[in-house]
Amino acid sequence: MITASSGATETTEAVAIALLNAVCDRLLASTAELNALDRAIGDGDHGDNLARAAKRLREVSDELAQLPLPQLIARSGKEIVMSVGGASGPLYGTLLLEIGKALPPQPAATDWAEAFTTGVEATARRGRATEGDKTMIDVLAPAARAFSEQAASPRAEMLTAVRDAAKGGFDASRQLRAGRGRAAFVGERAIGADDPGAVSSLLCLTTIIEFLAEIPE
Ligand code: ADP
Ligand code: MG
Repeated sequence: MITASSGATETTEAVAIALLNAVCDRLLASTAELNALDRAIGDGDHGDNLARAAKRLREVSDELAQLPLPQLIARSGKEIVMSVGGASGPLYGTLLLEIGKALPPQPAATDWAEAFTTGVEATARRGRATEGDKTMIDVLAPAARAFSEQAASPRAEMLTAVRDAAKGGFDASRQLRAGRGRAAFVGERAIGADDPGAVSSLLCLTTIIEFLAEIPE
């Protein structure tokens, strides 16, 4: 559960904005790395696409901060869908939009896990991707499973389980050919390369996990 116990004024929404900012900072710091990965098996723009998403979310940050949590997350997704071209914009946008739509206003950990699972499933449907296609779904789907399984566990255990599942999915995807996205066109050449979307998903999840590990339960 994203809550802050340091005072009634630090709302769940304020924590969500801080978390979103941390993810945006991490993506902006990774632009060159993500572009380079995408140059190897795609068209070289994954870092730029996510930088555009991050900049857009920063631009609307004050507006987002006025919204109740579910709408804050859903609106973030809409902004990404509207501002980012490429495959990853609509996919990450769908993820946030559907998480926001599925969340109650004061979510418990189990509500977050359900909403995250709903979002990942919607993203996979939108991309017509399944696990094993060497995409972001190879990281997000195992993370969602681990989250659902551990949602009732102490926070530290849950975060470790989600991190390990995401990393496990990522590592397994390296040796695959791609079944979806531009990397599907490079065939064998994708084997051994890291999928840029799998890397960005792992980066985002790692940032969220590190952030949550630092704040009180
Ligand atoms: P584009 O491929 O349009 O240039 P990006 O480079 O921003 O878009 O994003 C590429 C990443 O998006 C891939 O590495 C992959 O993880 C993900 N991706 C692409 N197509 C799909 C799809 N159909 N389903 C799920 N993920 C996809
Ligand atoms: Mg690309």
